[in-house]
Amino acid sequence: MKIAFLDRDGVISIFTPDDYIKNWSEFQFLPDAIEGLQTLVKNGFRIVIISNQAGVGRKIFSEQDLWDVTEKMQNELRKQGIEIFKVYYCTHTPEDNCNCRKPKTGMIERFIAEFGDFERGKTFFIGDSDVDIEVGAKTGMKTILVLSGKTKSVEETENWNYKPDFVVANLKEAAQIIVNGGNFQGGTDGKENKGCCVE
Ligand SMILES: [Mg+2]
Ligand SMILES: [Zn+2]
Repeated sequence: MKIAFLDRDGVISIFTPDDYIKNWSEFQFLPDAIEGLQTLVKNGFRIVIISNQAGVGRKIFSEQDLWDVTEKMQNELRKQGIEIFKVYYCTHTPEDNCNCRKPKTGMIERFIAEFGDFERGKTFFIGDSDVDIEVGAKTGMKTILVLSGKTKSVEETENWNYKPDFVVANLKEAAQIIVNGGNFQGGTDGKENKGCCVE
């Protein structure tokens, strides 16, 4: 089973500093995200979304709102030939001290409980923040940081406890790395890749 684990906000959809995507009118796909997802799907990868949504726990939006956004996102993606295999959310706040809020690994463990284990060393976790890279690293995956969300430059990763294996501009470039089996083949849009291949 070929799987790609992805964060949602800042990877597939826009990152909203100090705010949440509370309803569908606030949801926007990032420009290159759909192409990146298409690349993964065409190459046989199952897309699994792993996302913290503490706005539910903070009662800023409801669980119903969250799944409404999810359903509409999936409908839009389906029109582009993209089927999302599974979506996991942690809706707790940090104070809840749950076992699923990233950087904890509970959502990956739930996936394994449902679908079985996978080839960790050949599987990628793509995210825009330190918690994504930590989850991927702690569960034995390769990690790709995209600079399309919370993290704006590779310099910001310098004092992270877990460093990404790759740093790229967006999901489109991340998908290229994944389908090439972890080899970066040069920027897909002709640009030099920033801080690629930190390993
Ligand atoms: Mg994010
Ligand atoms: Zn949780």
